[in-house]
Amino acid sequence: MNVLVVGGAGYIGSHAVRRLLLNGHIVWVYDNCSLGHAAAVPENLLLQGDLRDQEKLTGILREKQIDAVMHFAAFASVPESIAEPAKYYDNNVVGTLRLLEAMRAAEVWRIVFSSTCATYGIPEKSPISEETPQRPINPYGFTKLTMEQALEAYAQAYGFGYAAFRYFNAAGASPKGDLGEDHNPETHLIPILLQVALGQRPHIAIYGDDYPTPDGTCIRDYIHVDDLSDAHIRALDLLEPGQGIRLNLGTGHGCSVQEVLAACRQVTGHPIPAVQAERRAGDPPELVADNRRALQLLGWEPAYPQIEATVETAWRWHQSHPAGYGD
Ligand code: UDP
Repeated sequence: MNVLVVGGAGYIGSHAVRRLLLNGHIVWVYDNCSLGHAAAVPENLLLQGDLRDQEKLTGILREKQIDAVMHFAAFASVPESIAEPAKYYDNNVVGTLRLLEAMRAAEVWRIVFSSTCATYGIPEKSPISEETPQRPINPYGFTKLTMEQALEAYAQAYGFGYAAFRYFNAAGASPKGDLGEDHNPETHLIPILLQVALGQRPHIAIYGDDYPTPDGTCIRDYIHVDDLSDAHIRALDLLEPGQGIRLNLGTGHGCSVQEVLAACRQVTGHPIPAVQAERRAGDPPELVADNRRALQLLGWEPAYPQIEATVETAWRWHQSHPAGYGD
């Protein structure tokens, strides 16, 4: 297929681009490089532009005869979404609607959309199945849920065929260590822990030790970024006009902040000092995927079910790229 990867210069998008190319697809990357990195994608595939530029998107979809869109271009930090909701609604909702309208104009109906476990809010049961009611507790989760709902409406009214993947916590890096996570400022747990191991930070602050979990710290399901991109490619063949697939993408296993800290200490051999801090607003105590539907529907299985293996790939990236992509 001819695939336009919107946000393809970002962390998850760049891994998807690489795998699409390996699978023989023709790929174009659309990214404004505000958060993405030009160095993360082959130079000749990068088309610079903003998600809100509907006219430009329509032109590219037509000119490149695009069959399917993968849409990764989003702001995805929970704390930032609480501090700056306008930014999140503008990009994640308004921007995505512009993309959908460009697709409608260019008659492209296939889309794989990055959603999130943050749409579930504080779920009553764990692990979380796709049937769990979606009740976000932060603006980031609301923007993604809004777009899941819009996609369903576009499927019914205009014949879009979509997959909405509810990612749990994306983690890790390419096994070669040449693609990885580079956010500025960094807010995610594993990169911060590895920055401490590199001597770039003095310690990690553990946000809350009084959650209702066995060791008191929050539990998350850390899914390797290559496993996410694998699922995306499998979905391309399953899209049908007028139909939506909504799937959780996670390993099915939870790790507490303390367990992730222990894994990082083990992989790096560094003591990684930790200090206790206040809870961070908007953090649910536990988010773990029931991933059975994805396993069955996609014929997918995470290649990195263990946190240590995921951290090893991230560590390779951080050691070889202490300043990220250096841009
Ligand atoms: N966390 C932490 N210290 C940090 C960064 C994160 O204790 O410096 C915790 C955070 O409160 C959450 C978990 O690690 O419970 C994962 O956070 P992250 O920001 O990586 O992902 P999120 O779950 O917010 O998408």
